[in-house]
Amino acid sequence: MLATKASVVFGPVPSRRLGMSLGVNNIPLKHCTYSCVYCQLGRTKRPEIERRAFYGPDEVVDQVIRAVEEAGEKIDYITFVPDGEPTLDVNLGKMAEKIKEVVSVPVAVLTNGSLVYRDDVVSDLSVFDLVSFKIDAADVKTWRLVNRPHPGLKLGRILEAIKDFTATYSGTVITETMLVSGVNDSISKCRRVAEFLKELKIKKAYIAVPIRPPSEPWVKPPAEDRVLSCYSLMWEYLGESKVELMIGYEKSNFKLVGDPVKALLATTSVHPMRIDYAYKYLTEKGLDPDKVIPELVSSGEIAIVEYRGHRFIIRKFG
Ligand code: SF4
Repeated sequence: MLATKASVVFGPVPSRRLGMSLGVNNIPLKHCTYSCVYCQLGRTKRPEIERRAFYGPDEVVDQVIRAVEEAGEKIDYITFVPDGEPTLDVNLGKMAEKIKEVVSVPVAVLTNGSLVYRDDVVSDLSVFDLVSFKIDAADVKTWRLVNRPHPGLKLGRILEAIKDFTATYSGTVITETMLVSGVNDSISKCRRVAEFLKELKIKKAYIAVPIRPPSEPWVKPPAEDRVLSCYSLMWEYLGESKVELMIGYEKSNFKLVGDPVKALLATTSVHPMRIDYAYKYLTEKGLDPDKVIPELVSSGEIAIVEYRGHRFIIRKFG
């Protein structure tokens, strides 16, 4: 019997990647193919890989359409971002198709990509306007450490399938890589990921760090210099315009335009900035960088880190 639920729809909420996003939670807590060490939903008791129905698709679609009609503001995306892996839902493509028949808002899905080797999952994902793939590791050992996948999954097959999907998919592909201190934040591991991402047709690669309570208490974000090294490496492989940090300051980008210091903070939470550029920017805005920058450092808002002979400002995580 399929579950029913008061609401599988939430928001709209501001999302750094997708603007104002109406969320669709099409998977009950917590059915996933992975049990990531940083998952904010806790451990997956039994990772699973068999697709099945969770909610009645018509019920979900009705709720989405109602929510779009009732939302008093512009929605940029309807996003399937559930309490688990969305492609486990055998009705995923059907629901996206029905939503698109009725509303003109683009539809997105955030997936770990672990089932993309299946033809039915490829066909479901192809319905979406945007697909975001989680790619935390491109070597088997690290993948097992960070994502703790179902034993029936094989990383080589998954990466090949993601590559094949992006080669023919007509929508937008973005990726997200979560860096965990001591697990996947070394230069060699980031390089493996960057080499893989370079082979994909993607619009943007996001680098995230765990800032919400993780399923394993030992999980920590890497130090700022590690994040900067991985960011710079991806930048070299993919180009600057394709790499962004995502370290949890969504609100900054929506509300803080106009104030030069706040704008600087918002920018450095996405792109680390060379300190000489920050000096130039603040001076042009009539501020004294020799005063502003040390104050931001001592209040814990930013860190200054060195990379290849240059000093950069990066937003502190939190
Ligand atoms: S893929 Fe997502 S839902 Fe599944 S365990 Fe990892 S973080 Fe949690």
